Amino acid sequence: MVAGLDEKLEPIYQDVLRRNPGETEFHQAVREVLETLGPVLVKYPELADQKIIQRICEPERQIIFRVPWQDDRGQIQINRAFRVEFNSALGPFKGGMRFHPSVYLGIIKFLGFEQIFKNALTGLPIGGGKGGSDFDPKGKSDSEIMRFCQSLMTELYRHIGEHTDVPAGDIGVGQREIGYLFGQYKRITNRYESGVFTGKGLSWGGSRARTEATGYGTIFFLEEMLKVRGESIEGKTCIVSGSGNVAIYAIEKAMAMGARVIACSDSNGVVVDQDGIDLDLLKQIKEIERRRLTSYVQEKTSATYLEDGCIWNIPCQVALPCATQNELTAKDAQCLIKNGCIAVAEGANMPTTPEGIRVLLEAGIPFGPGKAANAGGVATSALEMQQNASRDSWSFEHTEQRLQQIMVNIHRHCYETSEEFDAQGNYVVGANIAGFLKVGQAMAALGL
Ligand code: GLU
Repeated sequence: MVAGLDEKLEPIYQDVLRRNPGETEFHQAVREVLETLGPVLVKYPELADQKIIQRICEPERQIIFRVPWQDDRGQIQINRAFRVEFNSALGPFKGGMRFHPSVYLGIIKFLGFEQIFKNALTGLPIGGGKGGSDFDPKGKSDSEIMRFCQSLMTELYRHIGEHTDVPAGDIGVGQREIGYLFGQYKRITNRYESGVFTGKGLSWGGSRARTEATGYGTIFFLEEMLKVRGESIEGKTCIVSGSGNVAIYAIEKAMAMGARVIACSDSNGVVVDQDGIDLDLLKQIKEIERRRLTSYVQEKTSATYLEDGCIWNIPCQVALPCATQNELTAKDAQCLIKNGCIAVAEGANMPTTPEGIRVLLEAGIPFGPGKAANAGGVATSALEMQQNASRDSWSFEHTEQRLQQIMVNIHRHCYETSEEFDAQGNYVVGANIAGFLKVGQAMAALGL
């Protein structure tokens, strides 16, 4: 069940397939955006004349490099790392680094492509980029992580800078890794350039509320979607896939706003706790002890662990995919609808498959795509850059309030754009078009 592309867009998509063989996730991300842009070219023919879509689909620069490092046994290991500097029309390239064995160029390009539109939607001056490595942090010691990060930065430092390209975290890269990366950048360049990285620790230039921002922002966006329909998250039963940074803080904010969160997951299985997830226990296991979720049920015997289980089979009113790409399929979407789900918001990047999205939209379920719903993380990164530039440090309350206002604005902008293009309440259409117009018009203004 694949929607056809507009006749002007089909050749552009075919060209993307031809020029980027085998990069299936990148193809998927491009196709999902192109499917919504037909009416934009009719309304803004100058963007078609300027070949803005073709230009957006080609990264400005792609860097691929070797990362050699020594493990604790003295053995030499070799990984591959990437930084895709996708689009700098609105500001320096901005986007996280992902460390995961599944990483290859196609994953980084899909993430970088999404980041262009997401960053544009924040309304803040940041371009789009992404990086990462096929390094697997699982089971590595702290010193191995440090040596790997230092080796990676020994090459990456020459490509980044506070006005050029500003990395941050993503899957497998949190404050610890950012510390090692930033420390090596500082050592090599002899510059305390705080604005070159975001997601830093509080005592070395980080922003309050950055850790919480992606998860909190997703809930703020969800609340706006529900508000349009006269609903609220209060009292709703929610399930949240994942148990990393995004999932933990989505759970925290959902609970603070009166929701009942009964399930979360990791790559091995699902925890179901009808009492509501014990957030302190979850944080202790994942953030401090860095253990698997199986430990949760060892500590809390009322909870159940479904090994290899599918979280989307658990009845809920709100589903929040916060783990990884393509984790929610058409079958899962059908199951959610059958069980009474009334809203889905993506905390992760592209967690719902194209067929899954279609099932949800056809059923009239409000669906917040990641590039809008999870933009709170990168938006707060841009706030961290503002604080670094003015050598200032804002309070948690102030930063969170800015984040909330940004999410309310993103929601309104997406909703109004969906109305303008006759797709009222379709946030996929709204987010793609609103993000595209912002970047496309800036590109046109800046010339070739
Ligand atoms: N990795 C996050 C994202 O997908 C945050 C990027 C950033 O803060 O630069 O948006």
